[in-house]
Parts: sequence; structure tokens; C-alpha cells
Amino acid sequence: MAEGMFWADQIARSASGAQVVNDSKTPSGKVHVGALRGVLIHDVIYKALKDAGVKAAFYYGEDDYDPMDSLPVYLDKEKYAEHMGKPLSEIPAPDGSNQSYADFYMQDFREVYEKLGARPEIYKMSELYKKGRVNETIRKVLEHAETVRNIYKKVSGSDKGKDWLPVSVICEKCGKIGTTRAYHFDGTHVHYKCEPSLVEWAKGCGHEGKKSPFDGGGKLPWKIEWVAQWLHMGVTIEGAGKDHSTAGGARDVSEAVFREVFKKEPPRNVPYEFFLLGGKKMSSSKGLGVSARDISEIVPPELLRFLMVRYKPNTAINFDPEGETIPRLFDDYDAAAQVYFKKAEARDPDVPRIFALSQTKEAHEHFAPQFSFLSFVMQVPGANPHAEFEKQKGTPLSHEEQAVLKERTEYARIWLERLASEDAKLKILDHASTEWASLTDAQQTALNDFAGIFEKEPAQSKQIEAILAISTSRGIKIADFYSAAYTVFLGKKKGPKLVPFLNALNKSFVVQRLRGL
Ligand SMILES: [Zn+2]
Repeated sequence: MAEGMFWADQIARSASGAQVVNDSKTPSGKVHVGALRGVLIHDVIYKALKDAGVKAAFYYGEDDYDPMDSLPVYLDKEKYAEHMGKPLSEIPAPDGSNQSYADFYMQDFREVYEKLGARPEIYKMSELYKKGRVNETIRKVLEHAETVRNIYKKVSGSDKGKDWLPVSVICEKCGKIGTTRAYHFDGTHVHYKCEPSLVEWAKGCGHEGKKSPFDGGGKLPWKIEWVAQWLHMGVTIEGAGKDHSTAGGARDVSEAVFREVFKKEPPRNVPYEFFLLGGKKMSSSKGLGVSARDISEIVPPELLRFLMVRYKPNTAINFDPEGETIPRLFDDYDAAAQVYFKKAEARDPDVPRIFALSQTKEAHEHFAPQFSFLSFVMQVPGANPHAEFEKQKGTPLSHEEQAVLKERTEYARIWLERLASEDAKLKILDHASTEWASLTDAQQTALNDFAGIFEKEPAQSKQIEAILAISTSRGIKIADFYSAAYTVFLGKKKGPKLVPFLNALNKSFVVQRLRGL
């Protein structure tokens, strides 16, 4: 492997011994596309470790014992009011099925990242708590509660008060975990009060009592739950989003607890930036949401991986799916394939590795139908994309190429319907006499000249040469030739690449139109 290697390969090279990669997520509703970046960064690290011959595991924690602390706008407020503050694993799913709220949303997210080729081993925090796997960690932090309080104060400036305990128990009366305040640990039980106004998002019932925090009776605050995951899974590498990785942030608190209470070295952090969605307007005007599922429906899996993998973790991604973003993403992906298969030179030495790590199945070299040309051909009445691309390729399309064409056709349809700008939408004029009349004499003559060439010369390269020659001989700029042609076919001065465009249309129709008939 060359120097200046891909970032994940650098991590893999510097790893010593077996590695455990971990990521986790609170299933508080539809999972935002940003969380997908976390999964893919960890997946890429995991794959780089495997490629480097390092023994590695990849875990994904579902933090489903966290309380419901906000209500997504798409849910019924009245129906969920009574559940605010309960663990997400104990709340019913919105579809009325008997799975939990947490499972409902995590399953949806899991389907998306599995389609993208990430297959971590999943664990649920609710199960670890209930099976007693976190008991020892809970006991230890309760016994070191003062140290933990001091760490919160010293690292993050958060003063929890002198009787605060790093555990939340589930209220025996109302089942809420987000509303209880634990204030005394007697060695077996935690004394707590379910406070009506401890948090703004849920109302406690006022019950006061004592309860074992073990075997699912309680949970750790999330910064310490992170520590429990590191301990339990033996995590050696875990990246954290920018919001958690700032000085004095969650990660710093967790690391300090890990060092001072458990006397262990925390996992390697790979801080990563946000995945932002530009163009907020799209969410309302075009019905496009911002969940991982929504984005996975507008871009195929390899392309979505490519979009995430090509940026270094410390670079923010601002993705605006409207306009030309998606056609350009396809073009970049196809260009990367050319480099990977050694058909083109790379400007960025990481390109072959990025392409390889974007795959969800084995990559083969094949002809790729250009997305923007495909989107255009699909709009030409009577045109046949399969035939057009065979013409372009020069030989019949293989099975794989046909499958790629079929897949791209589906995504192009979505793009045209939901995301493309008006410029990308084409309507061939039924009649063009007004448009023809708007041209100069020189433009009309030039189009007429070209009609004769187009009729006899099938080679597109020759047609392009002819346009140049005709424009020169008729004394017009080449741009004026193009705008004249677009005017009579589309009623506008711009359009897709002219020569492939004309060749995708019915030949005698093109000849007639070029003659102003
Ligand atoms: Zn209560």
C-alpha cells in the first residue's frame, strides 16, 4: 500500500491486535440520514481492518432504554403523551404492531444500512440491562458516584448537586425513567423520587420509593452508558459526531469516567462532521423527507456509499439533492469506476480505494449508461433507452449492463419527477413554425445544410465536425447554430448535448424539422 493512503487504511495500519469497532444510536423516531454517515464511517473502518488482515468485529448498539424525550411531528401527540419519559423499548410502535417503538424505527433504519452493505452485529441496551449484563458497571459507578460527579463538574462544568447519582430507575408507579431522580444508594436499592417537573418533556407522577437499579430496574446516564458499551463489547475504535467530540463534550466526560473509575484507556476516537441536507425547501415543496430511508430511495446503494465514503470524516457533507446534484454524483461515480478499472488517470490517489469501498457487491467493469443522457432519452417520445445505449456502446449490452440500465431508469424517473429543475425537463415541440420564423436567415440556412448531412451521415463524430464547418461557412457562431437547433426542437435556447439528442429522435422527423417543415 502506498504512502499517503486512504484515511481508513491509515487507521487499520496503526491498529495493533484484534479490534472492536462500535457505533450506536437512540431510536427516537425516523432515523435522520446523518446517522447513516456514522454507520458507514464505522463500516469503512471495519472493512479496512479486515482488508489489512486485522481480526475485527463491528457492533451496533441500539440505545433503546433511553427515555422518549421528544415527540416527532409525524406522531399523534395525544396518543403518545402518556409515554413521554418511558424507555423507548417499552413504548408501543406507531403501526399498532406488538413490537416496540424502538424496534419499529430501528428495523427501518437497519434495512437501509444493510442495503448499503453494512452488517454490524446488533445489540440492544434494553436486553443488556434486563439480562444483568450492565449490573457490575452500575454498581461500580454508584460506588464511585462522587468521582463521577466531580468528573462532570471538572470536564463539562455541569454541577449535578451533591446527592445526584449516575443512574435513572424506572418508576414503579408510572413506568417512566426520564422523570426519576435517584438520591441514595444503600448497596442494593436506589432511593428515588418521580419528579413532576424534573424535565420539560415529561411529567413524573410524584411517587417516592426505593428500587433495585439492577437487571433492568434502571439505566445509566447516556455518557456513562457509552462507557458501559466500551467495557461490555471491548471497544477499541469508536468515532463520535462533531457535537459530542468538542472539548468538554460528552466524549470527554465518558473518557474521563473510563480512565478514572475503570482505569482503562478509552477507544480511539474518529471525530466526524455532520451530514447536512441543503435546500430545506425540498422537504415541504416536493415531499422529500430527510430520513435515511428517504435518501436511500432517491440514490442507489453504491452511490449513497460513494457519496459518504469520498469525504474524509472531518469534512462536512452538504448534500442538496435538487437540480444537477444527482446526475453529477452518477458522473463522478462512473469516472471513479474508470479510474478503478485503470481506464483513466486519477487526480486524487484515493479514488480507487473510495470506489472499492463504495461497493455493496463485487464490482465488474462494464459500460455505464450516463444518467443525464438516460434521463433525457426517457423524455423523448418513442425513444428506446436500451437501443440508444447499444448504439453508444457499439455492441449489445451484457446482462449486467441491462440490469444497471434498468436500475438507473428507476432512479432517473424519481429524479425527473421529484428533483430535476425545469431546465432538465424536455418537451419536443409538436409544431415549430413560430420558432423557425424567429431565426435569422443564416441560422435557417445552416440548419438546412445540416439536415442534408444528418440524413446521410450516421457517425456522430462526423456530424459534430459538420456543424463546425457549416457554422463557419454560413458566418455564424457555433453557439448560434446550437441555440437555433434547440429553439426549433424544444422552444428554448439550451438543451442536452445536441448531437446525441438529435440521434435519439426519429430521423425523418429531425430532417424535416431542420428544414423548417
Ligand atoms: Zn412515576
